[in-house]
Amino acid sequence: MPAQLLDGKAVASEIRADLTDRIKAVRKRLGRPPGLTIVLVGGDPASEVYVRNKLKTAEESGMSVSLTRLGSDTSVTTLLETVEALNNNADVDGILVQSPLPEGLGDDAEQQVFDAISPAKDVDGFSPISAGYLAQNRAGFVPCTPAGVIEMLDRCDIPVEGKRAVVIGRSEIVGKPMALLLLKKNATVTICHSRTKDLPSVCREADILVAAIGRAGFVTPDFIKPGAVVIDVGINRVTDSKQAKQLLASQPKRLSVFEKNGSILIGDVHPEVVATAGQLTPVPGGVGPLTIAMLMANTVRAAELATDTKS
Ligand code: NDP
Repeated sequence: MPAQLLDGKAVASEIRADLTDRIKAVRKRLGRPPGLTIVLVGGDPASEVYVRNKLKTAEESGMSVSLTRLGSDTSVTTLLETVEALNNNADVDGILVQSPLPEGLGDDAEQQVFDAISPAKDVDGFSPISAGYLAQNRAGFVPCTPAGVIEMLDRCDIPVEGKRAVVIGRSEIVGKPMALLLLKKNATVTICHSRTKDLPSVCREADILVAAIGRAGFVTPDFIKPGAVVIDVGINRVTDSKQAKQLLASQPKRLSVFEKNGSILIGDVHPEVVATAGQLTPVPGGVGPLTIAMLMANTVRAAELATDTKS
């Protein structure tokens, strides 16, 4: 029997619906809705799409949103000054600096930005303070993608406690916080990465497998314990026709979409895994919408905390 597909769009709608009353309460107490500002440096086309979606969702959720655009030739100093001004702006509850930053800003620009964002407004959860709180199981802002995965597991009644969980990927924004959150929910967690030996056999031990790698269709059916819950975080745009044909051999409808558009989004999990997994998040429509919903949740929480300090 093919895997049950976990509907990220539906879960994201539930999360956002649950925020409605909280947004109203913030509006009443602060005299304005929760405020999110996104800083976009340069014009990376994928970032433009992500930012547009985040702003649109925030606006539809009844928040106040603004976009600060900086040119790709912006200096790190200007970017940090921009962040500092937002830290000091009482109308801004949440600050998100869209990554990746242009390469010209240097290797450590992103870290400098994450260090500069006020922990009280760190709705992306990437600051070292937020990361430390998460590592210590204390309340703080949790990175949106792994937080969204946990919401999905909870809202779909997928038990985590006592399960073997394997996370492929150890990035600061997905893999590492994902592993910590699964640990917090009492899973027995293994983190894999590019130096892991015999990756498929480690993954086959997983009751819950999370793939956050950045390589289209990397996780093939031989990685999967039959019936496992498979969470596909990857978003990869495939433009190569040979690769698309190989990946979508069993999905003629999606292959025709590729042939029409010349590209298609594929997760890190091979489409044929649907025949082995018990439950699976699709790409698109799985983890992606949850990431945005959790950004909304973090922004509302930041506004509530700001309200608390003012009342
Ligand atoms: P990174 O590139 O920061 O991290 C990738 C991780 O995968 C690294 O830890 C790396 O290991 C590991 N890896 C790479 N190749 C292999 C391999 N051959 N075998 C095992 N492990 C490997 O990526 P991110 O964590 O930022 O993102 C991962 C994916 O998730 C991307 O596709 C990204 O687009 C997507 N994403 C999706 C989001 C959503 O909303 N759905 C949000 C954020 C990201 P090592 O550390 O050893 O190099």
